[in-house]
Amino acid sequence: MASDSIIKIQNVNHYYGSGRLRKQVLFDVTASIEPGEVVIMTGPSGSGKTTLLTLIGALRSTQEGSMQVLGEELRDAPESKLVELRRNIGYIFQAHNLLNSLTARQNVQMSIELHTDIPKVKAYSMAESMLAAVGLGEWINQYPHELSGGQKQRVAIARALVCNPKIVLADEPTAALDKKSGRDVVEIMQNLAKQQGAAILLVTHDNRILDIADRIINMEDGQLSSISVAPV
Ligand code: ADP
Ligand code: MG
Repeated sequence: MASDSIIKIQNVNHYYGSGRLRKQVLFDVTASIEPGEVVIMTGPSGSGKTTLLTLIGALRSTQEGSMQVLGEELRDAPESKLVELRRNIGYIFQAHNLLNSLTARQNVQMSIELHTDIPKVKAYSMAESMLAAVGLGEWINQYPHELSGGQKQRVAIARALVCNPKIVLADEPTAALDKKSGRDVVEIMQNLAKQQGAAILLVTHDNRILDIADRIINMEDGQLSSISVAPV
């Protein structure tokens, strides 16, 4: 089984700062995530959740231990490998970073064109149908300032999922949303990612969405533990 894991983390430690200011924030973290799994990570603020997500997403260098993502060891991997790997990951982080001068469709389309050599016409229709899938079919030509917080977050989700990522990393994606839109975006993410056979790792404090998880893990003071396996 272990060899099938899409993410395999073994004995990872992480430190910020140097010299006397060096501070350890992750302690001997070990975990695996299989294809198609939805895993929720909970835990108090400052416990190391975002740090772990950025290590898995190859947005930060793994210092100690082993971090295997899509079969590649990230520790000491060359930048070219990391660039390649990032193409297979959909990132949904709190600051959605939509480009304000582009419409919803253009924001999603740009992500396709940056990541692939798919022709513009094809990218156009992919962006349209992904926005329709997240319930924004009527809003494709709107600019970010014309959209609500929930709608912007859906654009960010469409942008993250449109290239069929094998892994979706989402850091508190519902934090800025009301109950209903929070629930909606998570279900959209779950459905789309499940259809694409991706693994989802979702950080949340939102108790109302815990039931979408196949498995819940908890981070506390930089140490990861398993909470429960949700009944099928
Ligand atoms: P969480 O996402 O669970 O809130 P973080 O991973 O953001 O936790 O932070 C874990 C710890 O690392 C905290 O003590 C935080 O202050 C510290 N930290 C996070 N990012 C940095 C950074 N870039 N430089 C120094 N310390 C950081
Ligand atoms: Mg965080």
